[in-house]
Amino acid sequence: MTASLVQWDQCFADRALRITSSTIRELLKLTQKPDIISFAGGLPAPELFPVQEVAAATQKVLTEQGAQALQYSTTEGHAPLRQWIAAQHGNVNPDNILLVSGSQQGLDLLGKILINPGDLIGVETPTYLGALQAFSPYEPEYVSIPTDEEGIDTTALEELLKQNKLKFIYAIPNFQNPTGRTMSLERRKKLVEITGRYGVLLLEDDPYGKLRFRGDFPPSLFSLGLEYAGGNEDQNHVIYMSTFSKTLTPGLRVAWVTANPTINRKLVQAKQGADLHTPTLNQMIVFELVHEVLGKQTELVRKVYGERRQFMMEALGKYLPAEVAHTDPEGGMFLWLTLPEHMKSTELLKQAVDYKVAFVPGTPFFALGGGENTLRLSYSCANAEQIDRGIKALGEVLHKNL
Ligand code: PMP
Repeated sequence: MTASLVQWDQCFADRALRITSSTIRELLKLTQKPDIISFAGGLPAPELFPVQEVAAATQKVLTEQGAQALQYSTTEGHAPLRQWIAAQHGNVNPDNILLVSGSQQGLDLLGKILINPGDLIGVETPTYLGALQAFSPYEPEYVSIPTDEEGIDTTALEELLKQNKLKFIYAIPNFQNPTGRTMSLERRKKLVEITGRYGVLLLEDDPYGKLRFRGDFPPSLFSLGLEYAGGNEDQNHVIYMSTFSKTLTPGLRVAWVTANPTINRKLVQAKQGADLHTPTLNQMIVFELVHEVLGKQTELVRKVYGERRQFMMEALGKYLPAEVAHTDPEGGMFLWLTLPEHMKSTELLKQAVDYKVAFVPGTPFFALGGGENTLRLSYSCANAEQIDRGIKALGEVLHKNL
């Protein structure tokens, strides 16, 4: 056998060296044992997936339009599905909608077309870890924007914008991952106005918006952006993303980006190079499901997650030390704990695993570090009994470390 002369330590591009697997991911492997109650994963509840309905839709698509479903298709995506999504947005131009293979791909493509090395991009503090993973290979510098119970602190943001030219701001206004918080209407309006005034693009990531348990649905940043642009879609500085992952099922990998034509055209070109198009069959299955199944399915998911959130809120009230603060989500899948300053959630996770309970430590969600005393809990995949038992165990760990 001859050894190749490849120098393995030098074969990667600089950007690949920025892609690392987090220590948290390694820690979380410990939590995947069957006897551990895990509030760590961000997965939708699998027992709610519409398996029969997806089977029936697949059968129908293959029987009636089999050849089309198995053929290559346009990069922009299945036209009837784009039209349906356009109508949901209040009749925007379907040409401004691009179907993507999960909103995760939307984040990657947006990073690819927007970020030059060294560009400043603004993210919430904390923010979605997957967005940082998508953007980081394009070598941005992060600006971590302060947030509070109402979302982005727009006064602090304006001060930042006076000093710095940001390329874009990435925000999750509904039931944010990881905090579960929702941006107030006033902040939404201010955020859209300030970014518009400073000429900063605004990326709105909205995978959870439909999973609201209580209260009114506030307008999207996208719709406020359209208003700001005087109804001219071509001038909207807000780029919107959502997905069928949390309402229908994540395995189909069907999501969309709605953006003005300038951004949309470049995204389409970037997607062409990435994967040509989102799987035709999956898009056609989703289109079959949006009429009859999606509404009922969304209702079911909302109801079940709403109950699980309630169980978790009750258990937190019963078992957690008074020194621990937590958010009170109006929808979505996540809840966020802030512990006393001296407590380190990464250390606590090791102990929690011994008590047969798991969570995600907060630090990886902070673009510039920090948040050692925070952690994320997901209630989507646990039943009432597991929630009670798991939070009781977590309470014991926290009491012991006070
Ligand atoms: N954005 C956020 C905020 C998320 O929480 C997730 C899923 N964890 C995604 C994007 C990715 O979703 P998708 O399945 O559509 O790629």
